[in-house]
Amino acid sequence: MSIKGNLEEIRKTIPENVCLVAVSKTKPIENLEEAYDAGQRIFGENKAQEMAQKAQSLPSDIEWHFIGHLQTNKVKYIAPYVSIIEAVDSFKLMEKINKEAAKNNRCIDVLIQFYIAEEESKFGCDYKEAIELIQQIRENNLSNIRIRGVMGMATNTDNQEQVLSEFKQLKTYFHKVKESYFESESSFDTISMGMSNDYQLAIEAGSTNVRIGSSIFGARNYSK
Ligand SMILES: *Cc1c(COP(=O)(O)O)cnc(C)c1O
Repeated sequence: MSIKGNLEEIRKTIPENVCLVAVSKTKPIENLEEAYDAGQRIFGENKAQEMAQKAQSLPSDIEWHFIGHLQTNKVKYIAPYVSIIEAVDSFKLMEKINKEAAKNNRCIDVLIQFYIAEEESKFGCDYKEAIELIQQIRENNLSNIRIRGVMGMATNTDNQEQVLSEFKQLKTYFHKVKESYFESESSFDTISMGMSNDYQLAIEAGSTNVRIGSSIFGARNYSK
């Protein structure tokens, strides 16, 4: 099916209040244009220079979500226009984003990445680390970033119960953090979870932001 057709099918399965990020990493500009022409305005990328290049060649009303691990020395490539950086798990990166946002006279939205899967991964915070991170941000008065919520990835498994329970765990973290630190801030409103294979479970568990790539654009080819 076409990208437009895929998007239409997927939109039917996503409630209106859930944000659909079209994950276009590795895909050529023409694919993004096709999605754009089908009405898609939110795109996700995980490489800073690739995002920068695409942002330059596409209309400026696109919202760019950075979804992968971001190195501090790459923040400058996306700071002028990125809409939200979805996966921040260290104070060092927060500081750098804050600095580059200030240089561009803006405030950049970020999500705290939580580690919820059973797999080995270098990325993401546990609850205690996330709390420490928030406290550090407050103490250092990083006023050019705004924490919008949490992000996480479930284990890559066919065990739906496990995936659902990991997503529910992330939702619990979101509410605990909100109650403790963001009670009066309505902008702390985002739970980013769910990809092509598991987004329906994520929505069931309370996702407000799904990140869908291959179901829209087809499988990615990393060997090119
Ligand atoms: C690639 C990626 C996605 C999209 O994955 P699909 O399985 O293609 O939908 C979502 N989130 C993150 C963080 C990714 O890196």
